[in-house]
Amino acid sequence: METSLSLPNQRTIFSAEVAAAHTAAVTQAERPLAILTDLASVVTALQSDTVSHPWLQQLLLEVSPDTTFVWIPGHYGISSNEKADHLAKLGRNQERFTNSIPATDLKSWVTKVIEKKWTENWLNTGREGTRKYFLRRIKMDTTRWNDPPIQQEQRTLSRLRTGHTSFAYNMSGGEFKTQCPTCRVHQSVEHVLCHCPHYQTARNKHGIPESIGNALGNQPTTAAAVILYLKDIGLYEQT
Ligand SMILES: [Zn+2]
Repeated sequence: METSLSLPNQRTIFSAEVAAAHTAAVTQAERPLAILTDLASVVTALQSDTVSHPWLQQLLLEVSPDTTFVWIPGHYGISSNEKADHLAKLGRNQERFTNSIPATDLKSWVTKVIEKKWTENWLNTGREGTRKYFLRRIKMDTTRWNDPPIQQEQRTLSRLRTGHTSFAYNMSGGEFKTQCPTCRVHQSVEHVLCHCPHYQTARNKHGIPESIGNALGNQPTTAAAVILYLKDIGLYEQT
């Protein structure tokens, strides 16, 4: 027997798999029954002592004791697997399994929508030459920073990423931007970290990447190298 049903778009893959298992458990008359799923988390959740997912609770209430749930790795050469995938695609236009949705599914859907909008907004904000544009070259997404736990190092990295450092900007009056004494160009975080020939030996020693995006990116090992590099060239206290 083949059945194909649709679900609200906000449902997770986990919930869709539970709905499919539930449908199979209550519509198949043959016993004993084995329900195969390629989602191991469903089988794990069924074995758990505390089941909080409402559809899973419903499945456990209604399932007959002679039903076994089996995890099979996806695309394991089981011919009916492809058929199930095909039916799942057809299901989008079929009758609804339910119009309700678990609260946790809705929460993760809302989070995803907000994160997508936030990332779109971030990628389209700030003109070339602005601080936001500079920061975007370092971070192309809105995920959390994997920064070191030491507060002073975190502060240094934040200042480098936003360009707020006293070695690049003279905040105490006079000309706003300082100059590199070696190269006679406007001093900047990018110049000190990636380009200034005066620091090339130290840069090589600490393996500082040539691009600012990599040097100040979200890599904890590189961040640690940048901190050591700044200490080595005597600029750590001026960040
Ligand atoms: Zn220079």
